[in-house]
Amino acid sequence: MTQHDCLFCKIVSGDVPATVVRESARTLAFRDINPQAPTHVLVIPKEHHPTAAELAASDGDLLAEIVREAHEVAVDDGVAGTGYRVVFNTGPGAGQTVFHVHAHVLGGRGLNWPPG
Ligand code: IMP
Repeated sequence: MTQHDCLFCKIVSGDVPATVVRESARTLAFRDINPQAPTHVLVIPKEHHPTAAELAASDGDLLAEIVREAHEVAVDDGVAGTGYRVVFNTGPGAGQTVFHVHAHVLGGRGLNWPPG
């Protein structure tokens, strides 16, 4: 299902350009337009689901596929060995600005804990 006013649905349809790094039947991975680390890729389902929690409730297999794809992104970018972070900002208070679920894959530099 596509939502016509959703930025990431427009990336899936090709109406908004993106630097795609991986694609599977049900997922797409593309570079973040405002990278916070040398590797900063977003992995999304092609279907519109607002948050990770809602996707977990409706299609846990697809959520698992997003996490598997996140790992493959890290492998492809050469950061899996040193370590990388997968983040699902969930809700405005956590910084979610695009309500089409996306995994941020961050790596290629030291990552502090706790995150800001
Ligand atoms: P959020 O704040 O967790 O919802 O993450 C949304 C992310 O989407 C941010 O890191 C933005 O930089 C990124 N973003 C916004 N517009 C685009 C775009 O057109 N292409 C790629 N990334 C985008």
